[in-house]
Amino acid sequence: MNICTRCGKTRVAVKTYKEKVGNSIVIYTINECPDPLCQKIVDGQLRDDEKRRTLVKNDQKKRELLRKEALLRRKQLASI
Ligand SMILES: [Zn+2]
Repeated sequence: MNICTRCGKTRVAVKTYKEKVGNSIVIYTINECPDPLCQKIVDGQLRDDEKRRTLVKNDQKKRELLRKEALLRRKQLASI
């Protein structure tokens, strides 16, 4: 059973699509809240979550890069 995380109503299937996974075909169903306004809010929250996740990922990448650069600089200094 698929229930809307926001209002608790049972979600309805709005779209199905098939995808080939290996040798078998998997049918995916997209379920949405029967309340369009609620669904819109849920969609917005998902997008916000995604944005936040991307930001965190970028931050981690940046920190990793800085760390590598610092390491490189230290190595260069050591070789002089
Ligand atoms: Zn809902």
